[in-house]
Amino acid sequence: MEHLFASPSMTLCVLDRSHRVTMASPSMSSIFMLDTIAGSLAGDLVPGAGPVVQGCFDLAALGHALPDRYFTAGGRHYQVTFHATADRNGGIFELLLIVLDVTRRVQVEHLLRESRRRLIATARRDHLTGLLNRRGLESVLHRELRRSRRAGKSLSLIAIDIDWFKDYNDSLGHPQGDACLYAVARALIGCLRRAGDAACRYGGEEFLLVLPDTDIGGAATVAANCQRAIDDLNIPHPGSPFGRVTVSFGIAEAAAGADGASVALDAISLLSHADSALYRAKRDGRNRIEFALGA
Ligand code: GH3
Ligand code: MG
Ligand code: MG
Repeated sequence: MEHLFASPSMTLCVLDRSHRVTMASPSMSSIFMLDTIAGSLAGDLVPGAGPVVQGCFDLAALGHALPDRYFTAGGRHYQVTFHATADRNGGIFELLLIVLDVTRRVQVEHLLRESRRRLIATARRDHLTGLLNRRGLESVLHRELRRSRRAGKSLSLIAIDIDWFKDYNDSLGHPQGDACLYAVARALIGCLRRAGDAACRYGGEEFLLVLPDTDIGGAATVAANCQRAIDDLNIPHPGSPFGRVTVSFGIAEAAAGADGASVALDAISLLSHADSALYRAKRDGRNRIEFALGA
């Protein structure tokens, strides 16, 4: 046993029933930057260790397996395996702790979690404008519809489509078209004031705004602000009768108290109502705001 404890590669210690270290290998002591931890109490070395050690004694007394535990010291992470030692009568009188430095593993796990989070976030964003993409919109819309149902609040959706954009692309080129999409997206984002509001690029030159806790009147104000912001951009559009880039709006509201079959169906119905309103805005001359009928 002494030979084992003297080995520089073994990180071990023994605790008696009063949680005091009776033996420790040099590498165990060096975790705590001490010459030796022999004589120290577990709870003094690792905050909160007292109840954990007592729990191990209690479990061991009942004949249960002892689960691994983790602690950090000096910025490093350690895994501890416990082994109970019983006397002739079966009484547990000490615990042998084998400690493993798992810092690298913890770091890799953290990196994996972080890159997974970033990957999911990227998969939900449109790379040209940075707005939510269709997939991102779906999860936000479902979440917000669920929330507004619970709170008994209304939610509005604004569908937006750039007018005569094919013509814009054809006459000025695709890169210029992309720059226009980016500018319009920025202008739309600039019109969202509340934390729960979300903007999405739904398709090529189509955008959607999700406005939780907003009725159709509030949504009309937001749409008017968007229209003004895009007017202020004053992007020349040679093929438009307005001479500049304009957009059309279709607004639909999921009224408070609406409790359809499912949130997914509610979302589809809301999208289709906003789209019909947008269609009328296009049909009736473009650069205008229309409202869903009986949404
Ligand atoms: P309307 O006023 O009825 O909306 O007419 P429109 O020309 O805007 O509508 P249409 O749906 O016919 O054309 C959409 C055009 O948007 C087609 C394509 O040239 C352009 N477009 C779609 N996605 C992109 C993109 O990612 N970048 C660029 N530059 N253009 C795109
Ligand atoms: Mg379109
Ligand atoms: Mg269009």
